[in-house]
Amino acid sequence: MTSILPPVDLPLDSILPDEPLLLMGAGPVPVSQKVAMANSVVINHLGDTMNQVIERVRVMSQYVFQTESKHIIGVAGPGSAAMEMAITNLVWPGRKVLSVQNGFFSGRLAEMAQRNGGDVTLYDVPLGEGASPEKVEALLKSNDFDVLTIVQGETSCTVWNDQLAQITQMAHEYGVLTIVDAVCTLSTMPLEMDNWKVDVVITGGQKGLASIPGVSLIAFSEHVWPVIIERTAPMPHWCLDVRLARQFWEEKGYHYTAPVSGILALHEALRQVCLETLEKRFARHKMCSLALQSAVEAMGLELFVQSKSRLNSVVGINLPQGVDGKQVLKTMSDLYKVEISGSFGLPIVRIGQMGEQSRAHNLFRTLHALGMSMKYSGASIDLPSGMAALERALNVTGNVTA
Ligand SMILES: *Cc1c(COP(=O)(O)O)cnc(C)c1O
Repeated sequence: MTSILPPVDLPLDSILPDEPLLLMGAGPVPVSQKVAMANSVVINHLGDTMNQVIERVRVMSQYVFQTESKHIIGVAGPGSAAMEMAITNLVWPGRKVLSVQNGFFSGRLAEMAQRNGGDVTLYDVPLGEGASPEKVEALLKSNDFDVLTIVQGETSCTVWNDQLAQITQMAHEYGVLTIVDAVCTLSTMPLEMDNWKVDVVITGGQKGLASIPGVSLIAFSEHVWPVIIERTAPMPHWCLDVRLARQFWEEKGYHYTAPVSGILALHEALRQVCLETLEKRFARHKMCSLALQSAVEAMGLELFVQSKSRLNSVVGINLPQGVDGKQVLKTMSDLYKVEISGSFGLPIVRIGQMGEQSRAHNLFRTLHALGMSMKYSGASIDLPSGMAALERALNVTGNVTA
């Protein structure tokens, strides 16, 4: 045993700022006080209290996912763990998978399918565009796919698959099971799981739902359920096996010790979505994101994606020639205490519009910080025009929802 004690005089507040930085990046997003409080509570993972919580999470999720399916399963893990649960329960050696790839996260689904032994065909969508239903149909016609994977919002390059409903309905008609990644979009824009014939919807905690990172939700359709339950292929994963996970999520039994605090936080996040109603929440996100987009343009910057397939949940902004994105982010963080995101290799910065990020006061602060920091990095910026455009678009005094 080593006799060297680590230094103990290192309280967290020697690292954390007095006032938290404003999280305006592509996730995690700020959480409400109710979510934060719930996350500080630990209860028994089995028993009557937990059973009631799970039942309510299921009922609220059915509304948020727009499904009548009872098969809502939680995962202790990031959005990627939910992606992996979806893939590993539907893809095994020999299964044919069509992966629609718009960027980094949809590419991750394809990689997971490959790792699980799937025979993967990539539809590599040109950068900055939404997937074309005609191209998908041509692929469905000439192949015998078992599973299709697609993302609703590709957070990495800020593309929205605007024809998602048509693609999933078509895949259903061809007898192909669909997996939709809605990590950044669930509850920020319409997704109708049942009406659009989606078989699996994946979400994470820390993005669209505005809960904490580390606990994710996944919804399975009644249509896909027998495929999972009656599977005969070997299942390499124990934690991610839905047939085991349902012992907890559907049968009030033990699988592994559930992340109780994160589930309580999710309960509060879902409840806030239900209180606001999906209609009002979608409208708020859309109005705030469009206001931000018009203000960014009025300031003299360009948006990365054309309006048709532009994602509202995460806005991608081109870096002007010669401007160092890392420096812009650092200035925003150091001077203005606002954090936004860089990107995975693209010359853009990204601002999130999920949950509490879509509030007028957060937008004013973020736009100002972005404009000033871009200016310090050498960009030519008309900040007053940008702020005026934001004020006009949000119409704060006349608009109670902002
Ligand atoms: C963030 C994100 C993920 C991955 O979520 P993690 O919690 O980081 O694992 C997957 N898909 C999309 C669309 C995302 O935005």
